[in-house]
Amino acid sequence: MPLRPCLGVHGQPCNRLTRGSRCPEHQAEADRRREASRPSWVQRYGKDWQRVAKQFVDAAVRRGEGCVYCHQVGHYDEAGVHNSMTAGHIVAREDGGTNDDENLQLECRHCNSRKKRSRKGT
Ligand SMILES: [Zn+2]
Ligand SMILES: [Zn+2]
Repeated sequence: MPLRPCLGVHGQPCNRLTRGSRCPEHQAEADRRREASRPSWVQRYGKDWQRVAKQFVDAAVRRGEGCVYCHQVGHYDEAGVHNSMTAGHIVAREDGGTNDDENLQLECRHCNSRKKRSRKGT
């Protein structure tokens, strides 16, 4: 691969020649910025979380399970979108919990947000 000038970050090019698109220093800076601009749920749960959670909720609802806290059973709206249930972590991610099925439980959005609030408060 030919050497090319580093692209720099945010419109501030640097002229160091590099084999990639940026010199190592600016590549690290660009990676850091990309990480910081991710939505907070990606930083907390990982980028696969939405897909994992949806699969878990769909399967649990199909088995007829309800919210583990209030036992309300989820329902689909007219568009077929599952709108009231979500997957919650049994062991919180910040406590080392994983996104594996064994660490997930079915929660309605109401109980899920109440749980999050109470974690913050204590
Ligand atoms: Zn550079
Ligand atoms: Zn609930």
